[in-house]
Amino acid sequence: MKSTFLFLFAAVIGLMTSCGPTSDTKNTTDSSEEAKAESQEVNIYSHRFYDTDKALFERFEELTGIKVNVKMDKADRLIQLLQTEGENTPADLLVTTDIGRVYYAKELGLLRSMQSDVLNEQIPSHLRDAEGQWFGITKRARVIMYNEELVKPEELSTYENLASDEWKGQISVRSSTNVYNKSLMASLIANNGRDAALEWAQAVVANMATEPKGNDRDQLKNIVSGTGKVALANTYYLGLMKNSENEAERAAAEKIKPFFPNQDGRGAHVNISGAAVTKHAKNAENAMRLIEFLTSEEAQTMYAEANYEFPVNPNVQASELLRSWGDFKEDEINLEEIGRLQTEAISVFEEAGWN
Ligand code: FE
Repeated sequence: MKSTFLFLFAAVIGLMTSCGPTSDTKNTTDSSEEAKAESQEVNIYSHRFYDTDKALFERFEELTGIKVNVKMDKADRLIQLLQTEGENTPADLLVTTDIGRVYYAKELGLLRSMQSDVLNEQIPSHLRDAEGQWFGITKRARVIMYNEELVKPEELSTYENLASDEWKGQISVRSSTNVYNKSLMASLIANNGRDAALEWAQAVVANMATEPKGNDRDQLKNIVSGTGKVALANTYYLGLMKNSENEAERAAAEKIKPFFPNQDGRGAHVNISGAAVTKHAKNAENAMRLIEFLTSEEAQTMYAEANYEFPVNPNVQASELLRSWGDFKEDEINLEEIGRLQTEAISVFEEAGWN
C-alpha cells in the first residue's frame, strides 16, 4: 500500500516536472559510474498481485538500498499505459504473467534489449529472449488435471489424445480468449502444424463437458462436481486450492491430480511470469539488478514455496508439494516462438468454434 502510494506520488511529480521521477537525484560525485548516475529507485508496473512479490521487493530494497515502487494493474491496462506514456513513463520494469502478454509488449516496441551474464546463468535459454527483451522469473506448466476417482493416469498420455472419442463430454476447459489457452494452442501449432492444431481444437470442442467459461479453478471444481473428468489448467491453481482458506476448494483439490502430458515426446507445455526492462526506463541498470535478484537462489526459493510455481533457476528445487507430483519433462521450445504464434492461435480457435 505504502509503496503504491509513493509510486503514484513519484509519478505525479514526474508529470509535473515533465522529466521523470529520477532526474533530480543524480549522484554527481560518482558520475563516471553509469549505475550510480541513476537514482536509487526502480519503478515497476506489475500484473502479479502476490504477497511474495511484495516481500521480495522489500528484501531487494534491504540488500541494495534501491527503493522499489510498484504500480499494480491488469497487464492489458499496464501495456496500454506504457504506450500512452511513451518516453515519459515512470516505469522501468514490466512484470506480467504469460509469454503472450510479454511478447505483445515486445511487439509494440515497449521493451529494450538488455544483456546479463548472471541472467544467462540463472535462466535456461528457452525461458528468456535471445535479444534480452524479456526474462522468465517463474515457471508454470499447463497440464491435464484429472479426478482421481474417475480417471486412472494410465488412461492419459498427451494433449493430442484429448481429441479422441473416449473423452466425449469429459473435458472442462476455459474460453479461448484466455492467454494461457492461446499459448497452449501456439505450442500445438509450433509442434504439429496449423492443420493438425485445428483438427485437435475441433475435436476438443466436441469433447467438452460444458461451454468454456470460468477460470482455471472453475474447471478444477467442475471435474469434482460432475462436469467432466479431466481439465486443462495451470499447475499452481491446484497448489492454491489445496492450501485455500475455502474448505470446499481444499476438499475439491484433494480429489485432483496433475498429469504431465507428452512425457514420451516433447514434454509438457510450460509458460512463465516474465520481467522486461521498458524501452524508456530511466533506471534500467537497477531494473536489471532486480531481475537478477528475482531469479537468484534466495528469491527463487521464496517464489517456489509461496506461489506453487516452479523456479526458473535450475539450482533451486521446487516446493515439497510440487516435488510430490514428480519430475517431468518440459517442452523446451523457446517461448518467443509461443509469443509469435499467438495471432495464429486465435485464428485456429475461431475456426474451431472454441468460444
Ligand atoms: Fe493465473
